[in-house]
Amino acid sequence: MDRLWTDFVNSDYHDWRGGDRSEDRLGKSSWQQDFLNRWQLEAQVPASTEEESTMRSFRDELQSLAIRLSAGTPLTEKDQAWLNDFMRSGGVIRRLISQDQGLDVKLVPIHAHWFQVMAEVAADFALTLVEGEGKRIRCCDNPDCRWVFYDDTRSRTQKYCDDKMCGNLMKVRRFRAKRKLESSEKKNEV
Ligand SMILES: [Zn+2]
Repeated sequence: MDRLWTDFVNSDYHDWRGGDRSEDRLGKSSWQQDFLNRWQLEAQVPASTEEESTMRSFRDELQSLAIRLSAGTPLTEKDQAWLNDFMRSGGVIRRLISQDQGLDVKLVPIHAHWFQVMAEVAADFALTLVEGEGKRIRCCDNPDCRWVFYDDTRSRTQKYCDDKMCGNLMKVRRFRAKRKLESSEKKNEV
């Protein structure tokens, strides 16, 4: 399942087929605009050099924290302070809105800049930890892919970001490796 924070982390795109299409999309204007549209956030596009470099280090830290938590390492006080620091840079106001399901009070971002966006990303990550468990965070089992996602299946056994894509690809790879091994064993027998 894609969330605001996983979408942000996955801007570090890896070619899941193992080809040469891996790219860091964070600095691309097209990625920045699409990301803002997808999550209904506002900021200047393209991001300034300073914003981009802060975003990149924030993303890389968040990625490694997510992977640490997915391995069962508990959140430290330092991690917590780090998340709080990023959340502090984006203020929110409360607004009463009417939706199809009725009235709701929403927290609406105040600023239209990338530090506000990072605060939203940090807050969404923090909410993931509040609502669920860090152990449900996964990194796709295809070593070429490494897509970060949240496993919300009941069985908690989701290994790949997408069973039809990475899951099938790994099945084919295992099959080929097995066949190669068998044919080399046959050659050795002769
Ligand atoms: Zn994958």
